Amino acid sequence: MVRDFSNALKASSVAEEYEITRKHKCECGGQLKFIHQLLLNNEDRYYDELQYVCVECNKQYEFLFDINSFFG
Ligand SMILES: [Zn+2]
Repeated sequence: MVRDFSNALKASSVAEEYEITRKHKCECGGQLKFIHQLLLNNEDRYYDELQYVCVECNKQYEFLFDINSFFG
């Protein structure tokens, strides 16, 4: 999977990351269930990826966050 780090969402804390992703729903209207978190390093900057799956249709979603304001 190719990640576009320039499109990462800015977050100022881990709690904010979860707050942002909680607002998202699947395009089918289903709730998203958290699968896992991945810490990424790209060109000396840090990113957090949260992976979710829809409980209704199993579609997967990844949310990429720029965490340099509070990490590293
Ligand atoms: Zn769905």
